[in-house]
Amino acid sequence: MTALDPDSDPVFLARKGYYRKPAVAALATPPKQPMALIAAEHTAQLNAPQNEDTFSKAEENELLFQDVELVWEPRGRRATAIDVLSSTTTMEVGIDLGALSGVALRNMPPARANYQQRAGRRGNAIATVVAFGSADSHDEHYFSEPDGMIRGAVVDPKLTLDNKDIVRRHILAFLLQNYHQARLPNIEETKRHDLFSVLGTVSEFCSGAGILNRDNFAAWLTENEEVLRDRVDSWIPNELSPEDRDDLLINMREDCLGAIDNAIGFVPKGEQGSNGENESIKDESEGIPEIGDERQKLNISTLLDRLLYCGKLPRYAFPTDVAAFHIFDRDRSTPFRPIMRFAPQQGLPIALSQYAPGKQVWIAGKRYTSGAIYSVMKDERFNAWEARRRYLECEKCGFARTEDIEKIAQGDIQNCPACLSQGTFGPARNWMRPPGFAHPEDLDELTSPDEIPETSYATRAKLTMESPLENQGWLPVNDRIRVFSVRQHLLVSNTGPRNEGYSYCTKCGRIEAATAPKSTLSGSHRKPFPARDTEKNCEGGGLTRHLVLGTDFITDIALFSMRVESPIRLTPGDYRTDVALRTLSEALAKAACKLLEIEPGELMAEYRPALTQPGAEGLEAEIFLYDTLPGGAGFASQLPERGAELFQLALALMKTCPEDCDTSCYRCLRSFKNKFEHALLDRHVGAELLEYLVTGDLLPFDDRRLRNAIKLLHDDIERNGDNLVVEDNVSMDVPGAGKFTDPIYISRADGAKFAVIVSGPLEIDYPVDPIVDVAQGNPDILKIIHINELAIRGNLADATNDVLTKVRGPNFSHSLRSGT
Ligand SMILES: [Zn+2]
Ligand SMILES: [Zn+2]
Ligand SMILES: [Zn+2]
Repeated sequence: MTALDPDSDPVFLARKGYYRKPAVAALATPPKQPMALIAAEHTAQLNAPQNEDTFSKAEENELLFQDVELVWEPRGRRATAIDVLSSTTTMEVGIDLGALSGVALRNMPPARANYQQRAGRRGNAIATVVAFGSADSHDEHYFSEPDGMIRGAVVDPKLTLDNKDIVRRHILAFLLQNYHQARLPNIEETKRHDLFSVLGTVSEFCSGAGILNRDNFAAWLTENEEVLRDRVDSWIPNELSPEDRDDLLINMREDCLGAIDNAIGFVPKGEQGSNGENESIKDESEGIPEIGDERQKLNISTLLDRLLYCGKLPRYAFPTDVAAFHIFDRDRSTPFRPIMRFAPQQGLPIALSQYAPGKQVWIAGKRYTSGAIYSVMKDERFNAWEARRRYLECEKCGFARTEDIEKIAQGDIQNCPACLSQGTFGPARNWMRPPGFAHPEDLDELTSPDEIPETSYATRAKLTMESPLENQGWLPVNDRIRVFSVRQHLLVSNTGPRNEGYSYCTKCGRIEAATAPKSTLSGSHRKPFPARDTEKNCEGGGLTRHLVLGTDFITDIALFSMRVESPIRLTPGDYRTDVALRTLSEALAKAACKLLEIEPGELMAEYRPALTQPGAEGLEAEIFLYDTLPGGAGFASQLPERGAELFQLALALMKTCPEDCDTSCYRCLRSFKNKFEHALLDRHVGAELLEYLVTGDLLPFDDRRLRNAIKLLHDDIERNGDNLVVEDNVSMDVPGAGKFTDPIYISRADGAKFAVIVSGPLEIDYPVDPIVDVAQGNPDILKIIHINELAIRGNLADATNDVLTKVRGPNFSHSLRSGT
């Protein structure tokens, strides 16, 4: 042990000197006043969950930062001016903070527009902007090439006003609103008052039991059709084409009733059975026109909710499908009325990652942990559990869907409906749509980061529908590509750390990762929300294991099906397939946004095997492009008629990277959004596949890449192949076929000869070179060993081992043991 001198020890100075210096200066003669900087948060998480608060915490901090004195502060609470605001992207949305003297960005913003917003929109009003680059490829790129982030014009945001489908949804909203006003001008005291109940329940609406009902609505529409049409005509956008406009106005009534009937499963009188309402609801499961749609309509009982879920109304105007993360205010809450200190919200697909059980959420300098499923309305949590489904996911190809709990028992394992693998689909788990999350009331808030618990992210959006049949409306793009336009639900789930799901107490809502080391949920435990002193414990006994959390949302989808032939094979679950299809998906999404002149990210793409026999064999794959806006924005539905153009553009994108990169880079396919998948993006593989899809020809794989791979493999075999003679570029004569150059030629001590052929990533069934094909038929002269380029790139040691095992033959280890 040695004493260290705090004034000179370099390690101590580097780690603690900064904090020690002001204290030393204050004690010196003459003393120097320490400079205090007060920092506070400015994030959307600091919202005002309770109406009685005048300002949200974020607004308060905003005022204090501008040195505005809060004179209405309760006595005893002193608010000091704030010097530094630590803020999230809330800064982007147009908050004017007056004079900023500096901005420090903790990471690289996604794009130039974000950078300019964050750096300040007031031109030269800011003195300094410092941006940090973290260690990921996005940040690294802009760190070395800051020009792309700092300079240049920004793409103007654009409102799509000529979209017929979106206007149609707005017309329905307008008509329903007017109908509601006409029939129920006053609020009824006895009814539920939450927003989603205003239109009543689906069954009331169907049966005619409610004041608002389907037949009455139809009659009201007929009665007022002329007036309503004039009013609609006066506000729908002028950007609509004259044909679309006429169509929407002339068919207004039928469109509107058709949309409602489809969502509520209403069968007009005369067509329905004798039992009225029940009958019509039962009919719906058989009469849904969409293919393979397994929406959970029957569990959604209020009309407004149902219409939103089915995508009949514009979604963005409603706070639907959002989940809050609740933090109880222990001091102000009572067992009868929980009061929140904070309750930040997110769209459910994002909340499934950000507020996932076990996740740490930082708000106002304190650390909270998600540990409960919670909703202020008690019913909601029970209803969510009652409406649970079973979730099955294929461990090989990743295909997933949910099923009715009546149909599949928990733990069941099935054959995968997508890749047809035996026993890979499952085990079936409970799947629930969480109404909200909470930091358990009994847990203390913390201020320092703990060891970070195992994290889990929501899956990418998955398409669960069957592949449409031949005659269901595919449009050909060319001989190998076809496209299908559809409005469907996409499934997003969080299967927990290590895909083990969550342990969930159905009684009180407490939840934790199934991988958590010591679970207390099966026995008695604390309830996560405020309760009376005598009722603070949950007796347990309601535990379910391996729960999956998820949601689904309807959107516009363009489904492309692509057929390949031998030697190309897109075997589901293969690394090569993932590289090829992930790359192609990203290229198509990027090309589509360019083609439609929309912002990157408004459309995304994902792939899966076609749910057909050729799909399982790797001869047919599907890529679906979808609108990321829940409810759909009408972008994806414009793609089918521009299919050929889209594929050409994607091909150009991959073939002509300005950087001429080896796999992928920021100038071609990488972006902030796909940073988890940068390693899978390989433009040469994507281009090889797409070239084939567009032209029908399989061209030789990128020469530079092949030569590099051959060199790597050759050298590695030479290093590891004791007693083998390894030569390169040996000219071989194949009798009756001709000559070919063997890039890696190996001869064994006993005279046996081998040729190692490095094939392009997608060629697997047979060699593309016909001479090699003939040589393969004469193993007595020469044995051909095929190695895939991606195998060498992905794991050189494995590839070398693979070759050596084949060269040494099955008897090799035996002969070693016997000492010969
Ligand atoms: Zn599968
Ligand atoms: Zn419990
Ligand atoms: Zn590139």
